[in-house]
Amino acid sequence: MVHHIRWCPACEIYTLKEECPKCGGRTKTKAPARYSPQDRYGKYRRMLLKEREIREAD
Ligand SMILES: [Zn+2]
Repeated sequence: MVHHIRWCPACEIYTLKEECPKCGGRTKTKAPARYSPQDRYGKYRRMLLKEREIREAD
């Protein structure tokens, strides 16, 4: 059985339980470094900026 690390957004603590030991609230799974759409857009935007900088330099 694999234990996923869980996270209570209210207390900002990590736990292995589905219930937060501190506030008793529902915890969320904390996925290991995942590719978020926001990061992808950020990367894309940086790429575009870089491209424009190169063009302006020419
Ligand atoms: Zn909590």
